[in-house]
Amino acid sequence: MIKFLDLHSQYLSIKQDVDEAISNVIRDSAFIGGASCTFFETAFATWCEVPFCVGVGNGTDALEIAIEALGLAPNSEIIVPGNSFISSAEAVTRSGHRVVFADVDRRTYTLDPANVVQKITPRTSAIIAVHLYGHPCDMTALATIAAQHKLEIVEDCAQAHGATFKGRHVGTFGRAATFSFYPGKTLGAYGDAGAVVTSDEGLAKRVRKIANHGRIGKYDHEFEGRNSRLDGLQAAILLAKLPHLKRWIEHRRDVAARYAQKLARIEGLELPVCEDWVEHGYHLFVVRTGRRDELADYLSSKDIQTGIHYPKALPKLQAYSAHGQVDEDMFVNLADRQLLSLPIGEHLSLGDVDIVSDAVCAFFGR
Ligand SMILES: *Cc1c(COP(=O)(O)O)cnc(C)c1O
Repeated sequence: MIKFLDLHSQYLSIKQDVDEAISNVIRDSAFIGGASCTFFETAFATWCEVPFCVGVGNGTDALEIAIEALGLAPNSEIIVPGNSFISSAEAVTRSGHRVVFADVDRRTYTLDPANVVQKITPRTSAIIAVHLYGHPCDMTALATIAAQHKLEIVEDCAQAHGATFKGRHVGTFGRAATFSFYPGKTLGAYGDAGAVVTSDEGLAKRVRKIANHGRIGKYDHEFEGRNSRLDGLQAAILLAKLPHLKRWIEHRRDVAARYAQKLARIEGLELPVCEDWVEHGYHLFVVRTGRRDELADYLSSKDIQTGIHYPKALPKLQAYSAHGQVDEDMFVNLADRQLLSLPIGEHLSLGDVDIVSDAVCAFFGR
């Protein structure tokens, strides 16, 4: 069996570090806040080369709180890619704004800047730049558009730990950027966790206040916030994992390179592109074929697990049925029938990659 994700094998490879981290938090009863949260925030900020990091409850809250902290005009329009996890859109509505879907690029599957421009109205206030699958958005183009139209950019880095654009880590381009540490993410906790990163100190302070009931002192609150704090156990686990992250991401790149070599030039199969000016985080390795479901079934019959990210473009979800934004001309409406995620991660050996690749080749008659 070739697994799509194997959290247990990762745990076994770092068991001692993780077990010790967990027992230290329990020993100190530092369940909310405390040293592990502060240490992790500092270490993660350094890791992504940003001055400030605020740990929060999960990646969805991170987006919602970041948007709220920007203080945008209420009920403004925010542009979201039509192919993403629902959080990228949900956080917009939950923070009192309106979702406007834009198309994604046919090669990188990230926001298509030309289509973003078409969706801008006088009510537009921001763009959610989702670095989907670990490939950074075209931040040069998006930054130019944002400057011209006075829009904020929030980067959704939930899938892009370790990815860089023109040598800069993702998360350093927008006014705020968010990460998820959901267990299956490239850096995953053992429960829910997330973070907001920013270079804007005032914004970081506001995010921290919103996430902690608008608190300014014990039982003293400047405004109504919410409860979305990073949990001490999760912070300690993330801190124990962080020293391994670079190696894990390098391994993902090796896996991707092996797939690229083995699966090159198969007619009817598009491999993920990696633009010259980016370093891909390869959270997912997503191929595209008109025979997607057939290929997934074939691989499953060979005991190879795959995933679909995502089976329904966001505008097609019932949650957005009232938006009337399903536009058959949008590439996202085709992509959801053609994209297939092959296994990738530190649990795979290059031998496993060869097994998957050989099965894909066999399926295409090669
Ligand atoms: C996982 C994910 C999120 C949400 O993160 P959670 O921690 O699960 O709330 C947001 N955006 C994208 C693109 C994601 O993949």
